[in-house]
Amino acid sequence: MRIEELPVDERVKRVIIERGIEELYPPQAKALKSGVLDGKNLVLAIPTASGKTLVSEIVMANKLLREGGKAVYLVPLKALAEEKYREFKAWEVLGLRVAATTGDYDSTDEWLGRYDIIIATSEKFDSLLRHGSNWIRDIKLVVADEVHLIGSYDRGATLEMILSHMLDRAQILALSATVGNAEELAEWLNAELVVSDWRPVELKKGVFHLGELVWEDGKRERYPENWESLAIDAVKRGKQALVFVNTRRSAEKEAVSLSSKVARLLTKPETRQLKELADSLEENPTNEKLKKAIRGGVAFHHAGLSRTERTMIEDAFREGLIKVITATPTLSAGINLPAFRVIIRDTKRYAGFGWTDIPVLEIQQMMGRAGRPKYDRVGEAIVVARTEDPKKLMEKYIHGKPEKLFSMLANEQAFRSQVLALITNFGVSNFRELIGFLEKTFYFHQRKDTSSIEYKAKDIVYFLIENEFVDMDMNDRFIALPFGKRTSQLYIDPLTAKRFKDAFPKLERNPNPFGIFQLIASTPDMATLNARRREMEDYLDLAYEFEEKLYTNIPYYEDYRFQTFLGEIKTAKILLDWINEVPEARIYETYSIDPGDLYRILELADWLMYSLIELYKLFEPEKDVLNYLRDLHLRLRHGVREELLELVRLPNIGRKRARALYNAGFRTQEDIMRAKVRDLLEVEGIGMKVVEGLFRHFGVEMPKGAKKGSKKAERVRKGTLDDFLK
Ligand code: ADP
Repeated sequence: MRIEELPVDERVKRVIIERGIEELYPPQAKALKSGVLDGKNLVLAIPTASGKTLVSEIVMANKLLREGGKAVYLVPLKALAEEKYREFKAWEVLGLRVAATTGDYDSTDEWLGRYDIIIATSEKFDSLLRHGSNWIRDIKLVVADEVHLIGSYDRGATLEMILSHMLDRAQILALSATVGNAEELAEWLNAELVVSDWRPVELKKGVFHLGELVWEDGKRERYPENWESLAIDAVKRGKQALVFVNTRRSAEKEAVSLSSKVARLLTKPETRQLKELADSLEENPTNEKLKKAIRGGVAFHHAGLSRTERTMIEDAFREGLIKVITATPTLSAGINLPAFRVIIRDTKRYAGFGWTDIPVLEIQQMMGRAGRPKYDRVGEAIVVARTEDPKKLMEKYIHGKPEKLFSMLANEQAFRSQVLALITNFGVSNFRELIGFLEKTFYFHQRKDTSSIEYKAKDIVYFLIENEFVDMDMNDRFIALPFGKRTSQLYIDPLTAKRFKDAFPKLERNPNPFGIFQLIASTPDMATLNARRREMEDYLDLAYEFEEKLYTNIPYYEDYRFQTFLGEIKTAKILLDWINEVPEARIYETYSIDPGDLYRILELADWLMYSLIELYKLFEPEKDVLNYLRDLHLRLRHGVREELLELVRLPNIGRKRARALYNAGFRTQEDIMRAKVRDLLEVEGIGMKVVEGLFRHFGVEMPKGAKKGSKKAERVRKGTLDDFLK
């Protein structure tokens, strides 16, 4: 079907055609003929890269231009929100305003009311629903990307609840990978279903075992025995490969090992460019390994990398400079990064209690990354049998069907928080109404029975009443209490809130960073690290050393909490180092963690510290303690000692710049106001941009000609901020 023939607003067609797309892919045409353009719900289950996004763009733009209102586009990851934001910006030519929102769970974000297309992570949108933002009622369409994540243990419940809330209020367009029970999903959503295996690039699948590659049609090829030969062969043919492994360490090890072989296949300019790329990386232990790999044209990609490195690797791979990426499965769920050949080295992973098979759905998502549209006529996905029986792998992963999706609503932690939200934020006023709402969920649709979930919901309601989140009146009506309401808005687990509340008396008597950090680390909302076996003794010693600072007792060795507790001590110690300005690279080294881990710990700790303060405010707070907590929060946010608190309150001044300013003698805001611009520019990390920001902060505009290097800039440098204020 040609774009021209689409029964949509002419302006929408123009935008698509200007992108160079004239013809719809067959599943796109099928989707757009399903009634979705007339407002029907749709589940679109087609492989990655077969154009789901374009379908949603056409539906969104057409609907918004015709009917007004808003569309919300839900994504599972922040990185995806950014990717979609860049793509959807194109619609601004038609006057549709696009916004993306991810962090900060305690806000109504009324500013979003000015936008038409709002991209949000599920968690963020869930929190917005709880805050009851005004613009929510203008939503006409919800697009749920990667809706198969409803089946994910820790995140599925959020998405399921959002859709249950929005089902009667807006049109739903659910985009899914191929799953075993798409019909069931479509029935639940009262939606049309379009399923297809069609792909823009043909996909060839096979299994590799000890040098023999068997394709799905039975054809065979010989290679050297090690699976690495598959990646090297791709590079020799001028192509790229993605290798999926099951752990971060394997990704690193394989990348370094492959790089020594790939290096020989690089051209001189490539080697030079790769060296420059490697040299541009910051110094830290993870990057040392990364540099080594990159010099040989290979990179690893996992959740331990920081954002900067990840983006850099993705870009260099897209440009063709990096030839092979070894990755953990996080890559397959995330960004769009296809390669000619996908090699799946591992089909098992360690899951707490032992090795389990990776689900077919996930392996197929990885395989779906094979074949670059426009560059490859065919893409190849190869599963490696190492200890496994190759025939079994062929049966399961190549010819097999993906698993069915199951509702994860009953996951205790998620459910607890959702039940609380229903009562405190969504006006559910008695048990009957609660069950009534649950009947709208996928959980109920699948089981046609609420008895087991009713039982769970009852337990949770008792827990909520017992701990003063909610109350019940004489007529068995729920009453939302402030503690419950705030907990729900803060988007934390009620168990976290209870931990905080229980600790407040002790905290008031003895406020100190270590005690507070351990408290934060002990909540179910924190991604607490594990203490390794060889570290355990050290952390136990540390716990005893800081015993009187803790708000909890040190558990005994036999206690089931013992191991987790040591992990909490480790996490608390990292946070303590952070606010004492220990350099990041030293933190990674001392605790054997990766930059991405530190980033995640800090992000979560920041949110939990904020929540702790907000909850403390509800319980007749002592002013001094409150101020203490606020300062500690700022120290945590910036990773600084107390003496830098005044400086980090300034715009664009973080831990490094604040320390540099302080050491150069600029210790207060006053010092900076009095300083000569020239002297400020002498300080490490302080450039013209930062100085401009300071000017603005103090309420003065930088003169127009004050660009770096210009004569006027020289003159400005001679002045002081103080001068400009006069
Ligand atoms: P999905 O969301 O299914 O993973 P995308 O929508 O991201 O896939 O599409 C993958 C690529 O295919 C994008 O670069 C997109 O611009 C391109 N594309 C989508 N539809 C068409 C089409 N009909 N013709 C040509 N290219 C298309």
